Amino acid sequence: MVSYTAEWVLPIAGQPIHHGSITIRDGRIAAVGERLDTGAIDLGRVAVMPALVNAHTHLELSYLRGVIPPTERFLDWIRAIMATRREYPDPRDPRILDAARAGIAEAKASGTGLIGDVSNTLVTARLLHEARVPAQVFYELLRFDASDPESMTREARAKADAAASEDGLVRVSLAPHAPYSVSPGLFATIRADLDAHPGQVSCVHLGESPEEMEFIRNGTGPWRVLLEELQVWTDAWEAPEASPVEYLDALGFLDRRVLAVHGVQLEGDDLDRLHSLDMTVVACPRSNQYVGVGSPPLEAFYAMNVSVAFGTDSLASVQDLNLFSELAEARRIAPRVQARSLLESATRLGARALGFDEEFGTIEEGKRAQLIAVRLPEGVDDVEEYLVGGVEPGAIVWIDPETPNANLPARKA
Ligand SMILES: [Zn+2]
Repeated sequence: MVSYTAEWVLPIAGQPIHHGSITIRDGRIAAVGERLDTGAIDLGRVAVMPALVNAHTHLELSYLRGVIPPTERFLDWIRAIMATRREYPDPRDPRILDAARAGIAEAKASGTGLIGDVSNTLVTARLLHEARVPAQVFYELLRFDASDPESMTREARAKADAAASEDGLVRVSLAPHAPYSVSPGLFATIRADLDAHPGQVSCVHLGESPEEMEFIRNGTGPWRVLLEELQVWTDAWEAPEASPVEYLDALGFLDRRVLAVHGVQLEGDDLDRLHSLDMTVVACPRSNQYVGVGSPPLEAFYAMNVSVAFGTDSLASVQDLNLFSELAEARRIAPRVQARSLLESATRLGARALGFDEEFGTIEEGKRAQLIAVRLPEGVDDVEEYLVGGVEPGAIVWIDPETPNANLPARKA
């Protein structure tokens, strides 16, 4: 058993505690509260909080860091990424695997302890397990002209099960890419698979670009052109004449176990619908800027009580996998959202959306002690505001009760 005291403890499940303490037994939180006077290791001027949750990334694209330039038009970015990926056809290419490993290490070093990772190849499941990072891997399927979605889904499920780790650390489920790249039949078979696996969650890119809105509304625009170019357009597909949220809801695909990624273009009725379905939107504001689709309406998400989590998206559209930097961008575009709400999104709500909230996301008795200490400069009076202002990896230390005195900015009480 090890106890720590710190200038600030942020349980997330309750108010920040000034001069708080945490006791850890067998890797789990045994107690959290006011300062203990004896026997605790004093961490000094730090904020102790649960590790962050990066609810949306694509680690297998880490080799594309700095390769795809920022763009004004989303389709330019899509075309660039498709062209580059064709140059790396082997998912086991050491350049892909090494970059993904480095991405995982970078996420960890910047305080992330749980990851929602989208993969087309499943190579990241093993890498996450090797790095001992709990994760929900979404095995992403996309085919606009899927002719046999049943067997496609069945085969994907077999691969997903084979890739999941036996210890439950890395879970694997199926996820459709987006409304404009997946056929209605494939949405239906993925949904049936999700229904057959009640403990699992899925995700879908939703409402990311204006081009998606136009295509789902009218069947026209740059997406239509690209689908025709790729020779996957089919006249059997009829434009839903709806928003992407209405469309997928009408297909019966949406519920609380489906994460809606991005939501940049959503407003009013769509947000109402997400709220009434108890869904989580995963906001990735830095990526949205990078690919030219604008900024997500974060203040509207919070104002309409839509549950928000955060993701960095992949290194093909963001400079780093530091979720604290994502929070800083969220703070910049949503100055009226409380810092406390942003921090809750980056921890508890991310863990809940990924289905890992029994173990992670808050400092509460019984949960895993997966904690970080963030060094605070002198004179911080609003610790929550400070933490959403951007934190560099050099200021973050993982609390390791196995070696309580190693690596910590600690002194004995
Ligand atoms: Zn994505």
